[in-house]
Amino acid sequence: MELDKMDENDWKYHGEGNKSLVVSHVQHSSVLRLLKYPSQDAEHSQQTTEQACRHIHSIVDFSKNVMKPLLGEAYVHSGEVVKLPLDFVRHLSLKVQQERPELRCDKVMDTFSGYALCLPNLTQLNACHFGDHRLPLCVEIKPKCGFLPFSVHVSKECKRRVCRFCMHQHYKLANGKWKRQSRYCPLDLFSGNKQRMYIAVKHLLEEPQNNFKIFKGGELIFGCKDAAEQTPDMSALAQQLRPYFTHNAGLYKGHLSAKAVLNEFIQVVSSALLSSWSCSRTAEPKKVHPADARGYCEASPLHRDLLRNGNNSLSKDSVLSRILQVQMLDNLDIEGIYPLYKRVEQYLEEFPKERSRLQIDGPYNDSYLEKVKNCPAEDDGSIEYAIGKVHQYRVAMTAKDCSVMITLAPCGEDQVLESTLEIQPAKPRLTYSVSILDLDPKPYDAIPYQHKLDSKIVNYYLRSTHSKQ
Ligand code: ATP
Ligand code: ZN
Ligand code: MG
Ligand code: MG
Repeated sequence: MELDKMDENDWKYHGEGNKSLVVSHVQHSSVLRLLKYPSQDAEHSQQTTEQACRHIHSIVDFSKNVMKPLLGEAYVHSGEVVKLPLDFVRHLSLKVQQERPELRCDKVMDTFSGYALCLPNLTQLNACHFGDHRLPLCVEIKPKCGFLPFSVHVSKECKRRVCRFCMHQHYKLANGKWKRQSRYCPLDLFSGNKQRMYIAVKHLLEEPQNNFKIFKGGELIFGCKDAAEQTPDMSALAQQLRPYFTHNAGLYKGHLSAKAVLNEFIQVVSSALLSSWSCSRTAEPKKVHPADARGYCEASPLHRDLLRNGNNSLSKDSVLSRILQVQMLDNLDIEGIYPLYKRVEQYLEEFPKERSRLQIDGPYNDSYLEKVKNCPAEDDGSIEYAIGKVHQYRVAMTAKDCSVMITLAPCGEDQVLESTLEIQPAKPRLTYSVSILDLDPKPYDAIPYQHKLDSKIVNYYLRSTHSKQ
């Protein structure tokens, strides 16, 4: 990419989240990720070019030096910082504006600093090498928190029975964020149990919200753009997916029924989520049992027997297990973290210069990772304990907010690829690769907000479910 010859016509709108907007190159397999900020802050933005530069570098550092070693080298692409010509960024911003979903237009793209991240386009597993006319498929899942809090600091009983995602649904519906309730429960996806995972993915398909997207050849073909959209069109989706599932079993009038196509698709997605990158396919993978007895959520629509008796196990190196292990660094819950945050705040009031030694705002380097890993196990009343726990909490928050990208590409009979594994060799010939994206650091200052939000969500859940009984 030649930074001095950037042309907005080579880039198109790809997608966005709450913090950034992503454009993809029309030919090469790369994306630019630009930061966004609230539109009312636009006037103040010129003076913050240096801040934007620091911020974008801290995103790369956090992903590369902290999240990547914790989640596994194979899963994370941290990208690199680029400084783009301001003219290019301004033209780009105008070009993409009409494509942006209304839901996201409360924020504007940063057109002042010129800083952005350049990343490989994970929705396009270099398709040209496969000698196959079918475009690669990519499934993006934002799985959210996969366990129930087990901390002694949890004050409300219901937090031990109903997961955060399921409780949050009630709150989001009441606030108009979404129009229809999602029946997805992260604990089912993270269970490692094939049946439960199947149902979790099915519920994601039925109501994707911002937790599920499908791309074909890099283009979004399935996913929710705003709260008002109608229920997703499953037969249209099956139509799109049918060419990837063309083997002979279960044919109906010469092709697979929509139901059979979606069934196969869900199974392929589940297999990719369960597979282990570093284990060989023949070796028996080590298993971890997520949260053991507490591995189910009472709000999940699944039948109790299936929840209790299911064979729950995630292979230790599977992407879900890696994410879950990092999420579980939050072992005190926000209710246990908030008093430690206050301990840190009080300490900083007395010793403001300690802020940099404690790496409150980074730098996110090896020494930060050490603080996350070597936090004292017991609270000895020290500032080291408090800051170690706060750092762990922030890392866990990032893992609760990341996305998993599963890129699936059809391959011909003879093609066996290095660095990708084949699934279901007797069935559709699809190779896949799995990555994790959106590993931004969560701000230290957001802890009081998280604390308030937690009690709002729990109180709302208690009120709304109580009134229905
Ligand atoms: P969130 O609100 O979830 O925190 P965010 O603002 O931090 O989101 P990202 O999740 O990083 O932004 O990016 C927004 C979307 O852009 C993603 O959900 C994904 O669909 C797409 N995207 C981001 N990075 C890539 C990539 N490297 N390749 C392909 N698509 C990407
Ligand atoms: Zn749940
Ligand atoms: Mg995201
Ligand atoms: Mg994010």
